[in-house]
Amino acid sequence: MATTDSLEETTVEVFNEQIHGGVTLPDDEGYDEARTVWNAMIDREPALIVRCSGTADVITAINFAREFDLRLAVRGGGHNVAGTAVCDDGLVIDLSPMNSVRVDPDSKTAYVEGGATWGDFDHEAQAFGLATTGGIVSTTGVAGVTLGGGLGYLARTYGLAHDNLRSMNVVTADGELVKASENENADLFWGMRGGGGNFGVATSFEFELHEVGPEVLAGRVLHPYEAASDFLRQYRDFMHDAPDEVQAYAAFVRGNPAMGLPEPLHGETLVGAAVLYSGDVEAGKEALRPLREFGDPLADTIQPVPYTAHQQSSDELYQEGHRNYWKSHFLDELSDNAIDTIVEHADPLPTAFTTVFFEWMGGAIARADPDATAFPHRDATVSFTVAPKWTDPAMDEELTDWAREFFEATAPYATDDVYVNYLSDDEQERAKAAYGDHYDRLIELKRKYDPENVFRTNQNLDPGV
Ligand SMILES: Cc1cc2nc3c(=O)[nH]c(=O)nc-3n(C[C@H](O)[C@H](O)[C@H](O)COP(=O)(O)OP(=O)(O)OC[C@H]3O[C@@H](n4cnc5c(N)ncnc54)[C@H](O)[C@@H]3O)c2cc1C
Repeated sequence: MATTDSLEETTVEVFNEQIHGGVTLPDDEGYDEARTVWNAMIDREPALIVRCSGTADVITAINFAREFDLRLAVRGGGHNVAGTAVCDDGLVIDLSPMNSVRVDPDSKTAYVEGGATWGDFDHEAQAFGLATTGGIVSTTGVAGVTLGGGLGYLARTYGLAHDNLRSMNVVTADGELVKASENENADLFWGMRGGGGNFGVATSFEFELHEVGPEVLAGRVLHPYEAASDFLRQYRDFMHDAPDEVQAYAAFVRGNPAMGLPEPLHGETLVGAAVLYSGDVEAGKEALRPLREFGDPLADTIQPVPYTAHQQSSDELYQEGHRNYWKSHFLDELSDNAIDTIVEHADPLPTAFTTVFFEWMGGAIARADPDATAFPHRDATVSFTVAPKWTDPAMDEELTDWAREFFEATAPYATDDVYVNYLSDDEQERAKAAYGDHYDRLIELKRKYDPENVFRTNQNLDPGV
């Protein structure tokens, strides 16, 4: 792979003239901002950041990177914890200027550019009381979430984000724009839904929408750490029987003023669940009753709220600019022994914004044909993630060790599998497990669409294996 040192200044100038959006170089104002991603642990210095205004810029950038054999990275929302949106020395295709969302309420369709966030998406769709499954933090990119899978409050009702895709436009490694759908380039459409950014740059998506809200029954219940064992057992039993309209993410968090808790609880390790009922509010009150009647909650904020408000309710907890390290896997079953181990390790949470969270699967995720898309974890019960968050670089080792030890302690209760979008920077060897039973088929597809591995700054499917 060439380095950009070998590029002539004039070559870069000519390239710059062909780009409508703009090219940011290391000496340019705004360079540091342009290379910054959500996870402050990632400190990479690309040689060229191409802020694409449209498909033409994407094609030009891919062709340039291929011609000069430059490492290439693709940035959607910039939220991937492994920081794969940026690379050292090479070229970054930054799609953030391409963030338009257009909704056709009659056909219940959203047309979404490759750099839009879920905040952009929900804002437009909710103007018509429509939504589809999307990430639960509004600043996260539609593209990265969707291409890897797409868990969210609506997933048990409507499937993964990418189960709701009708088509997408993709610029492939040879700089060709193609459409991918069930009817056109169906193999690519299959692989892009779970295979992440391995096959091309998705410049736009066409999503099916559903009637949701604009007001939904949603909020949080919080309990003291001392109730954690019983709460998690009750959560597990509740979710096993819950209707598809219910999604509840259990979590350990530390109390803070934004949770509406009294001062003595600020900083305390708490357990609870963030909940959404996607259907009728009155039906939701009945469906959520068992979860809400448990014990003596410190807070119960579940009430009719705008869907967009609930979609933004975790933004502060997962704000940008902090250092992050995630360790995640699917648990076989949330057994009593698994719960006891988790409870033992969860207190104290080491920093104010550290979380440990459970994402229940099932419902429409599990009902889809396991081969419908490249996402291989349809039968998983619950995804479990340890997510320390801190600001002081001096704490890097302590906090990553904490996550690793917690993760190792829960390994006896886990499958070998992991959601590809939750892998950290040092976990490339787990990518195979993340692609699961679909790995071989994905490698074949990679050999067809990207034999030179142009798209390699990701959870990579190496065509050379
Ligand atoms: C705070 C936070 C909350 C999250 N919540 C959820 C959640 O609710 N549900 C869930 O499923 N996941 C969630 N995730 C994980 C999320 O799915 C991944 O981090 C995902 O990669 C983020 O997408 P992005 O576009 O912001 O990422 P980026 O960092 O911009 O991109 C990640 C990778 O995706 C690929 N990519 C991005 N855009 C494109 C494109 N247009 N075309 C081709 N490839 C592209 C590239 O390979 C890139 O390296 C969350 C992550 C964080 C940090």
